[in-house]
Amino acid sequence: MKRVVIVGMGFGGIRTARELAGQGLEVTLVDRNNYHLFQPLLYQVATAGLEQESIAYPIRAMSRHWHGTRFHLAEVSAIDFAKRQVLTNSGAIEAPPGSSLPVPSSNWSATSWSRTIPN
Ligand SMILES: Cc1cc2nc3c(=O)[nH]c(=O)nc-3n(C[C@H](O)[C@H](O)[C@H](O)COP(=O)(O)OP(=O)(O)OC[C@H]3O[C@@H](n4cnc5c(N)ncnc54)[C@H](O)[C@@H]3O)c2cc1C
Repeated sequence: MKRVVIVGMGFGGIRTARELAGQGLEVTLVDRNNYHLFQPLLYQVATAGLEQESIAYPIRAMSRHWHGTRFHLAEVSAIDFAKRQVLTNSGAIEAPPGSSLPVPSSNWSATSWSRTIPN
C-alpha cells in the first residue's frame, strides 16, 4: 500500500487529507500540535470575543472518519530523500519497502526538501 505523509494540519493539510482519505492509501498526518488552529478568528480570541477552545479543533477528532488516516503528534525537523524518511522529534517516519520516492510539488526541488526545516 502506498504511504502518504502530510506535514502540517493547517488548511492545506486538512484539505489534502480529506481528498486522500478512503482512496486506498495509508495517510500519516503529522503536526507538532494535536489541534488545528483556525487562524482567521485569532483576533476574536485576542479581543476576548471568543474562547480559545472555539478556534482550536483536535486533529484526532477531526480525522476520526477519514478512512486510512492516522495522526502522529511530532515536530518535523527534516525530510531525508536519500533515506526516504521524514525526520521528527519522536523518530523517523519511513517509506514502506518498495514504494516510490515521494514527488515534491513543482515549486520545490529535492535539494530544498532535504534541507533542515528552520524553526
Ligand atoms: C490573524 C489571521 C487572520 C487571517 N484571516 C484570513 C482570512 O480571513 N481569510 C483567509 O483566507 N486567510 C486568512 N488568514 C491566513 C490563513 O489562516 C492562512 O493562509 C492559512 O492558515 C495557511 O494554511 P496552511 O495550511 O498553509 O498553514 P497553517 O494553517 O499555518 O498550518 C500549518 C500547520 O503546520 C504545523 N507545523 C508547522 N511546522 C511544523 C513542523 N516543523 N512539524 C510539524 N508540524 C508543523 C503547524 O502546527 C500548523 O498546524 C489569516 C491568518 C491570520 C494569522
